[in-house]
Amino acid sequence: MSSELQLIHSEILECTKCELHKNRTKAVPGEGPYDARIMFVGEGPGQNEGEQGRPFVGSAGKLLTQLLESIGLKRSDVFITNIVKCRPPNNRAPRKSEIEACNPYLQSQINLISPRIVCLLGTPAITTLMGDEYSASRSHGNPLLMGEIIFLPMYHPAAALYDASLKETLFHDFHILEQLLDNKETLETETSRSEETSGSNRTLEKWA
Ligand code: URA
Ligand code: SF4
Repeated sequence: MSSELQLIHSEILECTKCELHKNRTKAVPGEGPYDARIMFVGEGPGQNEGEQGRPFVGSAGKLLTQLLESIGLKRSDVFITNIVKCRPPNNRAPRKSEIEACNPYLQSQINLISPRIVCLLGTPAITTLMGDEYSASRSHGNPLLMGEIIFLPMYHPAAALYDASLKETLFHDFHILEQLLDNKETLETETSRSEETSGSNRTLEKWA
C-alpha cells in the first residue's frame, strides 16, 4: 500500500504530462500518513511549496496549521495535497487541462489512502472532486457523502488571510470537521451538520 503510494509520488516528481512541469522547481506530491483518516486538497503549490517540494508551507499553510490546531489536530495527523502537483507560473490558477492531466494522481492518492473525510480547500478543488455545481461560497461547511467518503468543502486559507470574516467562516467550518470526527454515526449514516454530538472520547483511531 504505502509502496504503491511511494511509487506514485516518484512518478509525480518526474512527470511531464502537462505544461506545468516546465517551470517547476520541485513537484509537490503531498505529505502525511499513508493511512490518514483525513485528507486536505488545495489548489496547487505556491512559490514556497515549489521550492521546498512540500504542500502548504507558506502563509496559507501557517493558517492551515492553526485551523488544524484549533480542533486538536496536528499537521502530521492528516494527509495534505493539491489538485495539481506543480506550481502554476506567477501563481495563476491551474487550467482545466492541467487539472485533468494531474487528476489521476489525486484519484490514486485518494484510493490508496482511503480517507474517511476529504476537506476541499477552495473552489478549484471543490469543483474537481464534487462537480461544477459546487463552490466555496455556495457549499462551504456542507459535508456530502459520496460513496464511502465524506467531502467537506471549505474556503481556501489563502483567501482568508486578509479577510477577517472569511477567516471566521473557515474556523467555523473546521468545527464542522470536528463534529464529523466526534460522531462516528455521522460517518456511517448521514452528514447532517445540525446534529449535536455527544463529544466524548474523540480519537481518530475509531475508524482504524
Ligand atoms: N496553496 C495551495 O493551494 N496549496 C499549497 O500547497 C499551498 C498554498
Ligand atoms: Fe504532471 Fe501534475 Fe506536474 Fe502536470 S501538474 S506535470 S500532470 S505532476
